[in-house]
Amino acid sequence: MKKRFLAVALTAVLSFTALMGCGSSASSSDKIVFGTNAEFPPFEYVSSNGVVDGYDGIDMAIVAKIGEMTGKEVEISNIEFDSLLVGLQNGQVDAVIAGMTVTDERAKTVDFSIPYYTATQVMIVKEGSDIKSAKDLEGKGIAVVQGYTGETVVQDLGYPYEAFKKGTECVLELVNGKCDAVVIDSITAREYVGDNEGLTIVEDPDAFGSEEYAIAVKKGNKELLDTINGAIEKMLSDGTISEFATKYSDAN
Ligand code: GLN
Repeated sequence: MKKRFLAVALTAVLSFTALMGCGSSASSSDKIVFGTNAEFPPFEYVSSNGVVDGYDGIDMAIVAKIGEMTGKEVEISNIEFDSLLVGLQNGQVDAVIAGMTVTDERAKTVDFSIPYYTATQVMIVKEGSDIKSAKDLEGKGIAVVQGYTGETVVQDLGYPYEAFKKGTECVLELVNGKCDAVVIDSITAREYVGDNEGLTIVEDPDAFGSEEYAIAVKKGNKELLDTINGAIEKMLSDGTISEFATKYSDAN
């Protein structure tokens, strides 16, 4: 309980700091401002001892490493997931790292780096649930996070659903019996199932294909894209990213 309160308080302080910082333009060649939405463990979450400011997780460790490798200062701007790509377009942030799946739709408005992580959507259900595959979602209460690819896949399946602002809100709905399934990214689902008793994950690779996470930059920002791609390539080939993935999945 205490921990949760601290996290909420920290989020408030950090959001305030982010707001205050809004006026200053993101770009300067010796600093990279990364936009994220720190509500997506183990990729990004608020922490009292994070790797970049008060933020921790796989993506945040990647950001810290990019700073180290490029010699540039790195900064995190914590904004709503839905506003991240707009923030990129209007110059509030230089890059977006948020466990963000590359989609054709998003690629129309921003440029994506080479992918650094592969995931898929899964269903979180209560233990003993009769949902065994995506088609069993028919007629069930489904919760998704607004703007996540989970929402898109459920839309594509054609089922009605309820959209929430945060993954934690969806999980609370499920725990309280107000919905039957949460459709969300695999690694985050594992995190929530680990944190809440009585929940389990149902996979359906036929219904939910694989997704790739990448960093987004403003369309045409080739210089930054090349810098980021160089760093990711190195981190993929020397095992740094899989090391981070193991570290943060185990620790949580
Ligand atoms: N991978 C999902 C998406 O891109 C969720 C990302 C997130 O919540 N940070 O929509």
